[in-house]
Amino acid sequence: MKVKEIEAKTVLVRSKLPDADYVVNPYTGCELGCQYCYASFTGRFVSEPINNWGRYVYAKVNAVSVFKAELERARKAGRAPSILLSSVTDAYQGIEKKYRLTRGILEVLAREPYPGVVSILTKSPLVLRDVDVLRRIPRAEVGLTITTTNDRLSRFLEVRAPLASRRLRALAELHAEGIRTYAFVGPLLPHFRYDREALDALFAGLAQTGVDSVFVEHINLRPYIKQRLWQILKAEPLAIQEVYRDASTVEHRLALDAMIAELLEQHGLKLRLNRVLYHDEGSPDTLGERRVQDDNVQDRELNVRSWKLPRRT
Ligand code: SF4
Repeated sequence: MKVKEIEAKTVLVRSKLPDADYVVNPYTGCELGCQYCYASFTGRFVSEPINNWGRYVYAKVNAVSVFKAELERARKAGRAPSILLSSVTDAYQGIEKKYRLTRGILEVLAREPYPGVVSILTKSPLVLRDVDVLRRIPRAEVGLTITTTNDRLSRFLEVRAPLASRRLRALAELHAEGIRTYAFVGPLLPHFRYDREALDALFAGLAQTGVDSVFVEHINLRPYIKQRLWQILKAEPLAIQEVYRDASTVEHRLALDAMIAELLEQHGLKLRLNRVLYHDEGSPDTLGERRVQDDNVQDRELNVRSWKLPRRT
């Protein structure tokens, strides 16, 4: 694994996501190396080819001080936009144990304490290390990405990520610690269309952790993602390859949407944003980066006089 230290000019970045006004990515690259990862495009910012995804991490060593200054500017402007860590890296990948950049950023937020929504999205139980800080951020929430309950499949697609079973446990542990939790089911693996039982097991497993709401997102098969994914799938039976190739059709999505609606109701889970997310191949934006007009962003920013708000439960 190549690790390089870099300095960032900015870390609090306006987001195109439908559910976050700003994103913070303390690292560029991600050692977890998921085969379906849409973030592989970020390699171009550090001159890394797409096929190197998962083999390098650039740590933005000044991220905490830069963030602190940027947050101060937001505070002076009386704004408390929602912030997501992270959109194109995993803020709790192994290297975080050494650099503690994510923890440092959370400590800045906890010190205020920051009144806006602070959402963590990760595949790593390392987030449990920071429960003490998260408790001091009034509107903090933690999401774990879980795409399957099958650890073998998880290891195949999410190469160096903690196993799905471990992530489910982490969600339950966070919930038990009193942290607000959610799950991100994305990408929605295409084989679920033909295996309702497995999809049922996934939602049942999520509900058992105490999660009450989930994001669900269809797989993104933009060309640069296919380039990596097809490489590993070509060793698989043709039938499996076909299932993945069909996954960008409307028919496929509608079939899965109907299953999702039934299963969410069955397990008492709320669908965040009220829809299964999808980013079509013709879109200029990447997965999870659907463009949000600046006007809408402004509408969703909280204008507050004081940064002292009660903890959201
Ligand atoms: S953990 Fe997230 S950012 Fe990292 S490789 Fe997997 S999908 Fe990409």
